[in-house]
Amino acid sequence: MSRQKIHAQVIRIGNPPFCLKSYRQCRGCFGWRNMIRAARSKAAWQDRPIKCLLTGLTLKIGGIPEDTDLITGGNTDAIQLKSRGFHKPGTIEETIDLLVKYQRDACLIAGGTDILPRHQGDGNRLTAGHLIDISGLGLDYIQNTDAGIHIGAATRINDLISSPVFSSEPYGVLAEAARVHSTHTIRNRATIGGNLCNASPCADLALPLLALDAYLVILGPNGKHLIDLESFFQGPNCTILEPDQMMQEILIPFTNHLALSGFLKLGRHQTKIDTAIVNVATRLSFKENDCIDARIVIGSAGPMVFRAKKAEALIKTGILDDDAINLAAGTAMQEASPLDDIRASAAYRKEMVAELVKESLKIIMKRSLS
Ligand SMILES: Cc1cc2nc3c(=O)[nH]c(=O)nc-3n(C[C@H](O)[C@H](O)[C@H](O)COP(=O)(O)OP(=O)(O)OC[C@H]3O[C@@H](n4cnc5c(N)ncnc54)[C@H](O)[C@@H]3O)c2cc1C
Repeated sequence: MSRQKIHAQVIRIGNPPFCLKSYRQCRGCFGWRNMIRAARSKAAWQDRPIKCLLTGLTLKIGGIPEDTDLITGGNTDAIQLKSRGFHKPGTIEETIDLLVKYQRDACLIAGGTDILPRHQGDGNRLTAGHLIDISGLGLDYIQNTDAGIHIGAATRINDLISSPVFSSEPYGVLAEAARVHSTHTIRNRATIGGNLCNASPCADLALPLLALDAYLVILGPNGKHLIDLESFFQGPNCTILEPDQMMQEILIPFTNHLALSGFLKLGRHQTKIDTAIVNVATRLSFKENDCIDARIVIGSAGPMVFRAKKAEALIKTGILDDDAINLAAGTAMQEASPLDDIRASAAYRKEMVAELVKESLKIIMKRSLS
């Protein structure tokens, strides 16, 4: 089948599957309207049900062959997507079995908001290997236990915003970051696990989670283990995960001290669809008026999200005042190693690291005094 214009994100036809994917993911994604449009655009397909691969919903509108699956969304410029298999396991054990079987040829898909656009540059063709949809594993939860706050890897970003768990200090910083992540529509699909596993240097949710000293529960053929988030990131789009491993959940340990936190994001324009030019998350712990612990986490200014540990050391040794804040901001700037890219120059990014760290610490200082 040749390349066609079609109003749907991914259409998978036949066995082995042949997929068509739309160019834009950010508008009108994942709705019936797009499925209907897609179906109507193929007049030759007669009166058959179509199924959305991600939502599992089936729609019969006429004009679609029986073995057609859809991942809905988007609205322009179809491109071809070739995948050798689409799997929707019902249990974690089945998922691990598939990962063990297909190894590097397997690709987990949660919300798909990173995976699908990532493959658009490759001559409009995607060789995705075996896509394994993890949306049916029950990994969408937010729970409080004695150990801390557990967040399932497949928890949608909008659910972080609406959860009461993230309405108070210092955990509210996660909801703050979630609120400025993309658009409402994307956040309805995008997951916290996908944001971390994609390991982008600008991943908005990675920053507050590093500031909150989060751990990850990793599953694989040899069982589960816990790893701290800082060790998880290995480089741009690179994590410590082996091909047969997956993330089950994020664990945020409780803190005993009074702690205040904040998140700031500088983007190119106000639409928020854009990823950050620089983003910063901070968390400071206080004993009486003294700052006894600090986390200053910086994104989009190095190969991966990182803690500015020299700046943290300057802040956590005493009273938080303007001098300490200015010194820490300048030090954080020195610790950053950004690149020039289409969003901003490296030099501008460095300046903005200092500005955002300064602003973020000043906001916390004011709140600590009130
Ligand atoms: C228009 C648009 C705007 C965006 N804006 C922002 C933004 O403002 N800020 C931001 O940070 N990001 C942004 N993104 C990127 C993206 O939405 C996020 O990174 C999102 O959180 C990814 O989640 P997902 O569930 O869609 O991941 P997916 O695309 O499903 O997966 C991403 C990666 O993680 C892997 N993966 C997913 N879940 C697991 C798991 N449980 N275990 C192991 N591996 C796993 C997948 O195999 C894949 O490699 C944007 C994307 C788009 C399309």
